[in-house]
Amino acid sequence: MVRVRASLSQLPSYVPGRKLPGAIILASNESPYGLLPGVAGTLAEAAGGVSRYPDLDATDLIEALAARHGIDPERIAVGAGSSEVCGQLLHTVVGPGDEVVFGWRSFEAYPILTAVAGGTAVRVPLRDHTLDLDAMAAAITPRTRLVFVCNPNNPTSTAVGERELLDFADRVPRDVLIVVDEAYREYADPALVPDALALLGDRPNVVVLRTFSKAYGLAGLRVGYCVAEPDLASHVRKTQVPFSVSALAQRAAVVALGEAAEVARRAARTITERDRVTQRLRALGHDVPDSQSNFVWLPLADASGDFAVHCLGGRVVVRPFLGEGIRVTLGLPEENDALLALAATWIG
Ligand code: PMP
Repeated sequence: MVRVRASLSQLPSYVPGRKLPGAIILASNESPYGLLPGVAGTLAEAAGGVSRYPDLDATDLIEALAARHGIDPERIAVGAGSSEVCGQLLHTVVGPGDEVVFGWRSFEAYPILTAVAGGTAVRVPLRDHTLDLDAMAAAITPRTRLVFVCNPNNPTSTAVGERELLDFADRVPRDVLIVVDEAYREYADPALVPDALALLGDRPNVVVLRTFSKAYGLAGLRVGYCVAEPDLASHVRKTQVPFSVSALAQRAAVVALGEAAEVARRAARTITERDRVTQRLRALGHDVPDSQSNFVWLPLADASGDFAVHCLGGRVVVRPFLGEGIRVTLGLPEENDALLALAATWIG
């Protein structure tokens, strides 16, 4: 018998949002608006080149990102989605038995990728559906090597503010890496939710993680990146699976970056829908926390599974976290209407 690592036997598999043909899919935090205008043509042009390997160093993409953020290209490392970059960061600093702290519930890949890297996950319960940064700072021990701060937090949609994040960063020892995962940055109110790059980007133990999968509409192409101190970024690049970001993905991401105005316009539409859906769900009696993301959280606890089944009956796919709540990605207005109609007929 082949001996599988013991740490994997306990490990849950990643549960993706369901894809049901013909149904309304509000389960994976994707953009409902499809490809950005310039991206489709670029993909058609670049498709003929896929018999060749992509640029290993993603030079054009890294330069475009550096220009966008006004930083040195040496500070950037890319990966096949920010999921791969999470893994790269773990492989860079975590060894067997080292601890990785994160709020819970948060992005479900954190415990999986932590175990794959040989680390030990330390889950710190949320407070009011929000990261409890005090408790997270208190959970740090001499074995802690990395802390994930998912801001806004998936799946509860809430965010922590500037003062809290700054106080937290001050409390974390300098040899512990703080990874601020800003996958949903484009949907957050900049007056309430800090841009970690601007706030903490000069600290050598802070890394900021971003993705093209959400507001940029490229979830299927797999591009994410982090901004780190140059020496750390050089190590993070070594842990990338070689060529994991395809030429199509690199090209599309560069074009998408150039369409910032359209990205902002689409995010604004999602935010308008978010406010409408939140108000209506609250009027129906749901205790929906303020969302800073492209999804809302219904803390239905034990009724979560039943609610998801009820929605499936109306051909709307949401994402249940059994015993905890339901995450509903904001879709097009008519898709959100379908969800609201189902919520109105649900007897919990
Ligand atoms: N971070 C967070 C908080 C997420 O919710 C997700 C996607 N669900 C990711 C990272 C990873 O996204 P991707 O790998 O598509 O960039």
